[in-house]
Amino acid sequence: MEYQYDDQNIFAKILRGEIPCKKLYESEHSLAFSDIAPKAPHHVLVIPKGPYVCYDHFARTATDAEILDYTRAIGAVCDELGVAPGTGGNGYRMIANAGNDGVQEVPHLHVHILAGRNIGPMVLMRP
Ligand code: 5GP
Repeated sequence: MEYQYDDQNIFAKILRGEIPCKKLYESEHSLAFSDIAPKAPHHVLVIPKGPYVCYDHFARTATDAEILDYTRAIGAVCDELGVAPGTGGNGYRMIANAGNDGVQEVPHLHVHILAGRNIGPMVLMRP
């Protein structure tokens, strides 16, 4: 079954300028802004501008230009935050939730970039 994109989701509204965001980075196909409920000193969401529900949807159906732009946007955000280990930063965690088991709240692809402290164990230790 193909994904059905809900254009009333909160990130679609941010992209249309209907609700504000604290923008960190913008390119032709991507936007990055601060999470409204930060879980770390840096908590940035990076989204593609196109209507993609989650990462596998994007990976299978986005254009090469969108995928390139989005990947570069994530790198640019890490540079902007000064967290990339390769340039002296202290590191970060990147998370992309999808669907029910992934506990995705907003059905528009986003990666979370969390940084500014040790982010702790990758997941809850539960089988
Ligand atoms: P998910 O669980 O879908 O991976 O994460 C969705 C994220 O979106 C959450 O971390 C939540 O705090 C954030 N969020 C929800 N509504 C808004 C909003 O209106 N503005 C911003 N900037 N972030 C939001």
